[in-house]
Amino acid sequence: MHRVFARIGLLIVLAIGLSSQAIAHFHLVDQADGLFDFSQWQSGAGVVRLDGRWGIKWQQQLAPNDWESVTPPWIELPSTWDQPSALESVKSGQGFATFTAKLINLPNNVRWSLLIPEQSTAFRLFVNDDLVAEGGIAGVSPASSAAYSGNQFIELGFLPAETKLTWHVTNFHHDSGGPWQSLILGPYEELGKHYFLNTFDQAIVVTLALLASLFLMIQYFIDRGDKASGLLALFAFIVALRIGITDNQSIYLVLGQLPWQLHVRLLYLTMLISAPIILFWQHYMFPVELSKKLARNIAYGFVPAVACVVFLPSLWFTTLLMLFQSMLLAAIAIYCWSLLKVIRHKRQGAMYIVIGATALLITILHDISVYSQWIDNSRLWITYGLLAFLFSLGVNVLFLRAKQKRQVVSLSEQLMVANKQLEARVAQRTVELAEKADALEEANDKLQVLANIDGLTGVLNRRAFVEQLEMLARAKPKVALLMIDIDHFKHVNDNYGHVVGDQVLKRLSSVLMDIKRENDRVGRFGGEEFMILLQDISENGLDSYCRRLLKEIHDIDFSDIAPIEGITISLGTTAAIMSVKNIDQLIQQADEAMYYVKNHGRNNFKHFSTL
Ligand code: GH3
Ligand code: MG
Ligand code: MG
Repeated sequence: MHRVFARIGLLIVLAIGLSSQAIAHFHLVDQADGLFDFSQWQSGAGVVRLDGRWGIKWQQQLAPNDWESVTPPWIELPSTWDQPSALESVKSGQGFATFTAKLINLPNNVRWSLLIPEQSTAFRLFVNDDLVAEGGIAGVSPASSAAYSGNQFIELGFLPAETKLTWHVTNFHHDSGGPWQSLILGPYEELGKHYFLNTFDQAIVVTLALLASLFLMIQYFIDRGDKASGLLALFAFIVALRIGITDNQSIYLVLGQLPWQLHVRLLYLTMLISAPIILFWQHYMFPVELSKKLARNIAYGFVPAVACVVFLPSLWFTTLLMLFQSMLLAAIAIYCWSLLKVIRHKRQGAMYIVIGATALLITILHDISVYSQWIDNSRLWITYGLLAFLFSLGVNVLFLRAKQKRQVVSLSEQLMVANKQLEARVAQRTVELAEKADALEEANDKLQVLANIDGLTGVLNRRAFVEQLEMLARAKPKVALLMIDIDHFKHVNDNYGHVVGDQVLKRLSSVLMDIKRENDRVGRFGGEEFMILLQDISENGLDSYCRRLLKEIHDIDFSDIAPIEGITISLGTTAAIMSVKNIDQLIQQADEAMYYVKNHGRNNFKHFSTL
């Protein structure tokens, strides 16, 4: 914090030093009423500002040969006509006048030149009897006058020891006119060098600002989200335009002069627009310190001012200059206030903006003082203030970019680490899931089996058996369906108990499974009832199969579990081409055939077709 103020202090000292340099550069000659005495002036002593008491003829245009010696009334130049120090008779800022002065005791060996800074708003200058310079048309009425802008530099050549200056100044375009800047007389080499260096100086600043604007504009077009760059590009462009059309007007030198009405509007607009732009820029850089709402409201405040400049005649809106300048100062105050908050919050790169803004502020205050004729120095500083400010904003943007880049790098590194971790975790999860999926599939298989298999005997349960029949039926195979019921099974249960009964059921089932071929199906249909499906079997084959079945079952040995002689079954069959529709019917037929056997002595088989 202390360092910031130390730097600002240094800047102020430097600025004051520079300004005193600029003042010291000018040499004042002895000046009395209407006379500039060069007897004390020597070549090499510097250029001379023709400031002092000139003769004035208000609302008159004297020709050079209309006067011989300078006569009162007097007026202190430079000054505009509405200044309190101006003549009693002159109340208005508008009108026309002739200013007269004599240069006496001019050395005879000097090639003179004259720098005529912009006057408000038209002039015509005679040196002795010759018209040497003109700015616009210095008429005697609004209709016969035309305004102009910009500085002029002219060569006068050798001058007689006594030289008459007749200066017509007219103003009908500006609120307040008159010769408000000093005429500067000097040796051609010295003043010319000063003028051309100045022009060069401004051209360089314009070029730099334009380049900065172009660069930032490209940046903005590449990244539309980067509003700060866009605004700064606009600001840099306005700075370039402003500097390029004032003073020596380097832009007009290259592109040609704009009509004065357009020029004066541009001058005011560049001043008015730049304030909201910078406030918006401040918002996008430091949103906490300057809210968008505030920036927007201030911008709205400038809209009527801009409208005035665009639509009103120059004579009207130039009367509002003081108001515009106050608005500008208010905007600057708000900007400074937000800047203070930026400093207090120790935002990145804020120090550079503070230095730049301070430089700009000093130059603006200085120039307002010059325009208001509070201080006596015709050299304007705003060019350099704007450049310093622009530079500081650029540096700040660069700092922010660097910080963002560092953040991006660090974030992408973090992201890479996180990605690696995630990959590892995903791989692990995939393995786990695969294991789980295998287990699940196995469990599913088991469940499937369990759902389809009869728990006691291991053959298909009734539902699964019927399901299998339905599936096979779609292929319409030739089948034989066998229904088995154990004879007098109740006796087994009654005599040896249910456990033995279950064992009997199990053994019978394993016999059925043993003699079953691949395409055959075996199912438990109820308590001690079983069904068999045989495919592709002939009538003879079915007969022998049934006999074999009766025998095999009869031959089962139960001696290890109970003293059972052996069991017999009643077997009913039916044969047909199976279809989805006739399954129930076939089961019914086999059942009927089986019951036939039950009712006719048991331990035998019967085909439904022979009932
Ligand atoms: P029939 O010759 O007329 O068929 O005489 P049956 O005694 O076999 O009579 P039925 O077929 O009507 O009787 C079936 C018996 O089978 C009744 C029940 O006690 C017995 N049973 C049914 N399911 C089971 C079982 O899972 N385990 C045992 N141990 N006995 C069963
Ligand atoms: Mg039964
Ligand atoms: Mg039975």
